[in-house]
Amino acid sequence: MNQNSIFLKAQVSLAIWYAGVMGVILSLSGFGAYQVMAHAHWQGVDQKLLAVSGNLHDALEANLQQSGQIDANVRKILPNLCITGIKCELESNRHVLGITQQEGYYIRLLDPSGQVIATVGRQLEGIPFSPKETAWQTLEDGKGNRYHQVSLLLKNNLGQSWGYMQVGRSLQDYDKHLDESKLALLTGLPIAFLLVSIASWYLSGRAMRPVYASYQQIQQFTANAAHEIRTPLASIRATVESVLMSDVVSELESRETLQTIDRQTIRLSQLVQDLLMLSRMEVQVPNQQQQSCCLNDILSDLVEEVAAIAMQSKIDLHLQVLSDSPIYITGNEEQIYRLIFNVLINAINYTLEGGKVQIFLEQSDRIAVIRIEDNGIGIAEADLPHIFDRFYRAHSDRSRKTGGTGLGLAIAMAIAKSHQGNIQVKSELDKGSIFIIRLGL
Ligand code: ADP
Repeated sequence: MNQNSIFLKAQVSLAIWYAGVMGVILSLSGFGAYQVMAHAHWQGVDQKLLAVSGNLHDALEANLQQSGQIDANVRKILPNLCITGIKCELESNRHVLGITQQEGYYIRLLDPSGQVIATVGRQLEGIPFSPKETAWQTLEDGKGNRYHQVSLLLKNNLGQSWGYMQVGRSLQDYDKHLDESKLALLTGLPIAFLLVSIASWYLSGRAMRPVYASYQQIQQFTANAAHEIRTPLASIRATVESVLMSDVVSELESRETLQTIDRQTIRLSQLVQDLLMLSRMEVQVPNQQQQSCCLNDILSDLVEEVAAIAMQSKIDLHLQVLSDSPIYITGNEEQIYRLIFNVLINAINYTLEGGKVQIFLEQSDRIAVIRIEDNGIGIAEADLPHIFDRFYRAHSDRSRKTGGTGLGLAIAMAIAKSHQGNIQVKSELDKGSIFIIRLGL
């Protein structure tokens, strides 16, 4: 399986998971919203019915006399009343309670045995009467229309049972509203899911990008490291093979062979050390050897160490401290030494005979600044953004000649960063370079 198909598979599975989880959340939210809306609507229906029936109940009870008898006072309250068995005269201009006029509402007055005496509004057929069972009922007529009603016991002005009153309404508009909401949900959810799927694909692609980039970086790094290791190994092998092929080996030849092997082994172990150091810096092992380090001392030691190399190349090496008191920083002394060494040795290695390398140390605010200037071969503008990359060499020939592994500046930058610092570079080809190392105090 090649890397592209691995990443494609990962992206597909990420998108599916994301869309799936979002789909479930969306469906649950939609279902929840529907339930809340239906409940609120139902509450509204109940409250309206309760208000109407309560008002009517109070108004009627004060005027009721003989059980099951409807007199003029009741007619005044309910002018649209239709008495069972008598032709109904509708006085549509007079309404005591406007709600009874609204389409879908009805009132029924029943005697104590449950016989309908009179009605207002919609005439219902096939609706059973069972007031003693429950005050609230949701009923369905023969045509499948649903009704919601409340039944209340009525007493006359002497406190005796008069009969029952039922106030109800058709649930047609309620059901229609719910059906519309269901339809909106059923069409909206697939559309939302489609959009979520597209977004999931796009987002998972974005999420995979840095993973892919770091995978490529690791691949590049492995290829570079293998290449760097292969070169000294090939050299050792070629040297040993040439000696093994000759019948007689002189002492001089043996010595030269061993020297080559020694040189290449040193190169290999330097490379391994650098790689180990970089990987340790990368996993950011907490610095256990934090101590107060005097930069003045570190720089003096460094100058002493590289003085011989500088002298060999006839390079003028100078250290200038621009601060009255010694500058101390907290960190790992060995690492800080290594950081400055890597930059300083480059300045010497990439400066031609007779050149000049200057080191300046100063303090600005809470930052120690080490400036290493050379008038060497400089770095081309195109190479500048890459010189801190691992194994990057702007001048490969010179780098290999001086034993450089191409990891020096990568290590220096990693150390600087782990000490709340950074390295800045200014350079001009054939004119020289300035490396500015800043470290937090
Ligand atoms: P190397 O081991 O090759 O020196 P580094 O990581 O230390 O690797 O440096 C990366 C590259 O940056 C070098 O190969 C060199 O081309 C360039 N470089 C670094 N320092 C200087 C300098 N002072 N002058 C010119 N080029 C430099």
